Amino acid sequence: MGRALIIGCGGVAGVVIHKCCQNSDVFEEIMIASRTKSKCDAIKEKLDGTTATKIRTAKVDADNVDELCALIDEYKPDIVMNIALPYQDLTIMDACLKCGVNYMDTANYEPEDTDDPEWRAIYEKRCKDEGFTAYFDYSWQWAYKKKFEDAGLTALLGSGFDPGVTQAYCAYAQKHLFDEIDTIDILDCNGGDHGYPFATNFNPEINLREVSAPGSYWENGHWVEIPAMSIKREYDFDQVGHKDMYLLHHEEIESLAKNIPGVQRIRFFMTFGQSYLTHMNCLENVGMLSTTPIEFEGHQIVPIQFLKALLPDPATLGPRTKGKTNIGCIFTGKKDGKEKTAYIYNVCDHEECYREVGSQAISYTTGVPAMIGAAMLLTGKWNKPGVYTVEEFDPDPYMEALNKWGLPWQINDKPVLVD
Ligand code: NDP
Repeated sequence: MGRALIIGCGGVAGVVIHKCCQNSDVFEEIMIASRTKSKCDAIKEKLDGTTATKIRTAKVDADNVDELCALIDEYKPDIVMNIALPYQDLTIMDACLKCGVNYMDTANYEPEDTDDPEWRAIYEKRCKDEGFTAYFDYSWQWAYKKKFEDAGLTALLGSGFDPGVTQAYCAYAQKHLFDEIDTIDILDCNGGDHGYPFATNFNPEINLREVSAPGSYWENGHWVEIPAMSIKREYDFDQVGHKDMYLLHHEEIESLAKNIPGVQRIRFFMTFGQSYLTHMNCLENVGMLSTTPIEFEGHQIVPIQFLKALLPDPATLGPRTKGKTNIGCIFTGKKDGKEKTAYIYNVCDHEECYREVGSQAISYTTGVPAMIGAAMLLTGKWNKPGVYTVEEFDPDPYMEALNKWGLPWQINDKPVLVD
């Protein structure tokens, strides 16, 4: 049916590639293109002969629009799947517009260099206007809406688990379960243990930037920002048990606040163990999470990039990780004039993911929805020109595909609420 260009070949892309190859009717051909071509070749070698999907590989610098365009013009994909880093979102979107091809990704734009004065001026204005200070936000990609509309192309933003599946849960709740949604709590629990004192489950630089930022939530039409990790709750997660979780800023809150009419409050909580928090605080206190280059023995180094080089590669955590994830959304609202609650969630087992695709569950829960999002566009189930997040499309085919492709969901209509 279609041909996809997959950019990036890290932890999440490994799952995306396996899943596209399981779904050969839709992904007849894929090209894996990344900065380090040997990683693309290694995965092609592993999968060739096990799948009907035809695989090619290439080297590309996704920061370079001309290089991207040369590759797209040569391969002529029906979709470009950005599974590299948020830093590349805008260059890949530019290349898609130039070459006339649909786009998707799993995380919204943030700049690699947060000291760039041009970016910083816009960022500081946004902090003031909007009321949250995270480095990542949707404004940069929403600014492409008209260009994609005029070109008759679709850009699907944030089709991972969170963002991604969590928004499909919201759209499903809105379509089938509620007349009005009052509150949404997104709970992201990782009960997995990889045995290291400290490691991140996806790209360390992106992960540590996200979790060390001030927390924020949406309430009564505006953002409320709080110091990082200053709101803590304990929750008893199905199949995982009791975990401490902390309120974070998270990108889907921004789009859900616009797209779920009348919602009064949206919060996002993620579980962290004490060891993770102690390490993170210590690293932050000594300046290792800084994105500002420093001079070291005649070289410019960025502390967080140096730290990334020291930490375990998340793509190697698969064989060591045991336990389960439980990610979902708790809704309160009204149906037929009565108060109602619902909790839609998925439980995913790290070891089962490893057996199936050789990855831990964080990469798996991101990679499966990325494949599904691309399949929605390739099969024409989701196609309207413009730039959209997951909750702006019909959730039904996506929710059905989650059950089919390894992320089955369930609904508890009497969940314990988070205070
Ligand atoms: P990794 O660091 O493991 O992989 C990133 C890949 O992108 C690497 O292969 C890297 O190449 C490649 N890359 C980086 N820069 C460039 C460039 N300029 N040109 C070409 N390729 C490049 O990250 P993850 O797989 O952990 O994460 C991938 C994405 O998924 C991130 O955007 C992350 O934020 C997102 N994510 C989303 C989640 C969700 O639920 N929505 C959850 C988890 C992650 P090289 O191999 O040479 O380093």
